[in-house]
Amino acid sequence: MTTEDPFVFRVIDLKQYVYCPRILYYHTVLPQVRPLTYKMAAGIAAHTQTERLEKRRSLRTYGLQQGERRFNVSLYGPDLHLSGELDMLIETATELIPVDFKQSKREGDHFRMQLLAYGRLLDILANPQQKTIQRGFLYLIPQRQAVEVRFTPTLQRKLNQAMSQLHIIIKNQQMPMPTKKYGRCVDCEFRRFCNDVF
Ligand code: SF4
Repeated sequence: MTTEDPFVFRVIDLKQYVYCPRILYYHTVLPQVRPLTYKMAAGIAAHTQTERLEKRRSLRTYGLQQGERRFNVSLYGPDLHLSGELDMLIETATELIPVDFKQSKREGDHFRMQLLAYGRLLDILANPQQKTIQRGFLYLIPQRQAVEVRFTPTLQRKLNQAMSQLHIIIKNQQMPMPTKKYGRCVDCEFRRFCNDVF
């Protein structure tokens, strides 16, 4: 979260909430405990490498003939209670398309919602020509594959619900339930605080 306003969340907070609600809680109440793990450091290095390669690639990976790319686009939308830095924006004559690089072999709801959140921020902050924002791409680094994500009404609804829950967690400072996907706990850096999941 930003220091200016406790109710402006980083898009990454939203992603982590969807992955496991407790991660957001720990980040908020125990912000000093999070170490830079090997996994995080490897992810940062892979991002940098992907950005370098992306600058030389054509847009065919995304099924596009033409478009302009911008990298590391900072977005701050207090009205949406969100801020973040988008890995890459593709702008065509008619569309704005957010792209997020992922050090993952699979997509997931947490990634899809993160992408949609960037789409919303782009719409209010960087869309004076009112171009269409109806999809984005997750670029899965290990697979070298771009996966299209459509911004469907269902995904929009899920994002609205998640944003409401984020506010409730921060306002009440109450520990949420753990993820039901216990496989996610195995290499979680907050595992030592979650004595109830094993
Ligand atoms: S250990 Fe499991 S429940 Fe606890 S924060 Fe990590 S993913 Fe969530």
